[in-house]
Amino acid sequence: MSLIVQKYGGTSVGTVDRIKAVAKRIIEYKAQGHDLVVVVSAMSGETNRLIELASQITDQPPARECDVLVSTGEQVTIALLSMALEKYGQPARSYTGTQVHILTDDAHTKARIKQIEDQKIHQDLKAGRVVVVAGFQGVDEHGNITTLGRGGSDTSAVALAAALKADECQIFTDVDGVYTTDPRVVPEARRLNRITFEEMLEMASLGSKVLQIRAVEFAGKYNVPLRVLSSFEEGGEGTLITYEESDVEQPIISGIAFNRDEAKLTVTGVPDHPGIAYQILGSIADSNLEVDMIVQNVGQDDTTDFTFTVNRNDYAKAMGLLETTAKELGARNVEGDDKIVKVSIVGVGMRSHAGIASSMFETLAKEGINIQMISTSEIKISVVVDEKYLELAVRALHEKFGLEQE
Ligand code: ADP
Ligand code: ASP
Ligand code: MG
Repeated sequence: MSLIVQKYGGTSVGTVDRIKAVAKRIIEYKAQGHDLVVVVSAMSGETNRLIELASQITDQPPARECDVLVSTGEQVTIALLSMALEKYGQPARSYTGTQVHILTDDAHTKARIKQIEDQKIHQDLKAGRVVVVAGFQGVDEHGNITTLGRGGSDTSAVALAAALKADECQIFTDVDGVYTTDPRVVPEARRLNRITFEEMLEMASLGSKVLQIRAVEFAGKYNVPLRVLSSFEEGGEGTLITYEESDVEQPIISGIAFNRDEAKLTVTGVPDHPGIAYQILGSIADSNLEVDMIVQNVGQDDTTDFTFTVNRNDYAKAMGLLETTAKELGARNVEGDDKIVKVSIVGVGMRSHAGIASSMFETLAKEGINIQMISTSEIKISVVVDEKYLELAVRALHEKFGLEQE
């Protein structure tokens, strides 16, 4: 008998019929003799709808109230799924994050899980019930509802699997595994049977939203066997995320990730002296805006040009801060562009191969795509390009590195 934590995402529980279908599948798994804890997201579109309601009241809603609001989405699905399970004869019980005590820190809208109480869950499992837990939400030590960031139900599932020492954590979604790139952009993308934690973490951080970054971090840290599967098809093996590199020779590039949520800001003609980077980025960091890529070029007359990227949602705020700093520094000009994307190639095989960057740049050059920024690490190369080239760049690189289906 094994204990499995399953997570069903928004589209998997997007309608009442889908919820009924998920209930039937859960009952099939239970019939195979597994103990099941099921984490669900809000019905698809619901979290966005709730955020939109708040925006009709204020453009700066208090973070605490945002969490009270958006956590309701998941409360609806846990109740409906448990009702469906009971209706089909399977005893079940639903719990919110507060009830099952998913303790988090108090960083509203991006809280981190600290601890989960497992006693109540074990009691229910012993009594033959399926336990249905609301994803995405927790509670801080003062009893305030918190949420874990967009896509956070993945993290709820992995954290529960770690706390309960589950045999596997299965993430059911609308694709049948992790692909070489988003199959919606490249239909020829290939499903990977397995991918290492290291690569999956890189893919997730570089924009592949199939798994939330923190879920991958958590699974890696606590060695939770993690599998991505389709809730729409039956019988597939999905993608296993694992520590072991496959025994067949590792491909140089495993996947291509992209991020549409980027914007770039440049300040030109800054006097080139020590402390400049600190002065420019200090006010940005003090306002809790995250900076991603940074490039500094030496210009003419002892001046320098400084470019960095931020999340597109933070673009206007970052621009305001940068204009103030630029005046203080006597810089020549501030400019920006929020129509950019970041495209990255990822693979542990890159470590042992030289010349990957140049073939990436050559491929983009042949397509007439101008590279605006570059950043590299041992297992990834990222470039910033105009957003109109996103699909072209991803497809060309996908072909160049031989990632398509045989
Ligand atoms: P859920 O609602 O189940 O959490 P998400 O929309 O968050 O589902 O994640 C699944 C989506 O991730 C897919 O529909 C797909 O478009 C996208 N995706 C992005 N990159 C990849 C990838 N490399 N492999 C598979 N899916 C990907
Ligand atoms: N419902 C939340 C969201 O849309 C959490 C999740 O789906 O994982 O981000
Ligand atoms: Mg998701």
